[in-house]
Amino acid sequence: MDLTARYANLHVSNHPVMAHKLSLLRDRSTEPKKFRELVRELSWLLGYEAMADLTTQPITVETPLEPTGGAELEPKVGLIPVLRAGLGMVDAMLELMPSAEVWHIGLYRDERTLKPVEYYNKLPDAATVQVCLILDPMLATGGSSAATVDILKQWGAARIKQVSLIAAPEGIATLSAAHPDVDIHVGAVDRALNERGYIVPGLGDAGDRQFGTFAGPASEPGHSMGDEAAEVVRRLQRNLSS
Ligand code: URA
Repeated sequence: MDLTARYANLHVSNHPVMAHKLSLLRDRSTEPKKFRELVRELSWLLGYEAMADLTTQPITVETPLEPTGGAELEPKVGLIPVLRAGLGMVDAMLELMPSAEVWHIGLYRDERTLKPVEYYNKLPDAATVQVCLILDPMLATGGSSAATVDILKQWGAARIKQVSLIAAPEGIATLSAAHPDVDIHVGAVDRALNERGYIVPGLGDAGDRQFGTFAGPASEPGHSMGDEAAEVVRRLQRNLSS
């Protein structure tokens, strides 16, 4: 689904390697070990694209032969993985940006209302980074991301980007409406959210698939999140089509 004409802040990767690896990630037969490897590889590719507009300052480098002009990344970068599925994206980003700081903000999605509830936040009083990358493999309702951006803006982060492997149109709409200044970098935009708040076709639960936790009640076939959650999804879908 191409929504880039509608949302100036949306950047969808069109790299063939991304498309190839995303297909492997979606495959239901991909087991957790391979799934984690793919999340890491895809995060590296997306992170590379998301950082393409970071500013640099000129430096001088001494090669073994002579001094030459070089470049040094200017802004300090903070990584904010959305717990728990975003954790699998951190290592790849740290490979790209070894000096990045990793800050944790704990929000869980209320299973009944699908609304984000904050349970952990140890950010210092003033922002220590200029650019924040919110890492979440799945941009679903957009509620957690919008709430995380609220917190980061209050903290004083000058620039915020959302980095997700797969996004739903509903999540892009919610985040863009609340924070049009936040760049959204994704590997693919899928068809929709289903009544349980899952992205379809998607890949299932990115946390369960990374960490092998398929035994919880929410993973049982036929599990329903209830009427309230379904109503939240219907409201997001109505907002999207209005
Ligand atoms: N979170 C997931 O892990 N998967 C979805 O499809 C939506 C939210």
